Amino acid sequence: MTENMGEVGGDPCCKAGRLERKYDLMQIDEELIARWRGEGAEETSVRVLTEEFNKELLRAALDRGDINYFEGEIDNTYRLLTDDDVTEGVRINVRRALKRANVDIEGAEDDFVSHQTIYNHLTGCLDVSKPQKESKDPVDTVAGEIFSLQNRTVAVADSKLERLRDQNRIAIDEFDVFVDVNVLCKHCQTQHELGRLLRNGGCTCQVEE
Ligand SMILES: [Zn+2]
Ligand SMILES: [Zn+2]
Repeated sequence: MTENMGEVGGDPCCKAGRLERKYDLMQIDEELIARWRGEGAEETSVRVLTEEFNKELLRAALDRGDINYFEGEIDNTYRLLTDDDVTEGVRINVRRALKRANVDIEGAEDDFVSHQTIYNHLTGCLDVSKPQKESKDPVDTVAGEIFSLQNRTVAVADSKLERLRDQNRIAIDEFDVFVDVNVLCKHCQTQHELGRLLRNGGCTCQVEE
């Protein structure tokens, strides 16, 4: 593991890498890797890691304002800003209070990342994979191989698009890239998403109930 893993050459590797620089969070990569793989730390899902990435980003944004906060307040502020159960009125009050304390909260909220960004950053930019579990089911092996190719395609498309956008060669703001592999059963003309086909053990027209 080298330092500055969020960088490839002089440019940030992706949105996550760019934000790590912007908010001075370069150290977070090592923690993301360890926790995702469950090495020296409890194995943690991408969903939870994404939340924690965003909370660190929020903490950095608060640190740049004139505000004192206690430890648990980061969690609570993040919840108030993102939880579906919180009313828009409450959110507006939170933003107003933070803006009074010179926190660029709208900028920080715009910078919050999605699960897919963190997943692509881990698997694509940092080239991390989960340690192999003991299951030697050939279906799982094939699924894993194809999914990592899909994720690689997403990561490459994402970074290439981002570069073209930053050079003003294509007009797009924030975006997410998705790659699906679909399989058409010629017997019954049903189209299956590959992951579902593998999980189901084949096409329903061939699999006995
Ligand atoms: Zn990245
Ligand atoms: Zn079929």
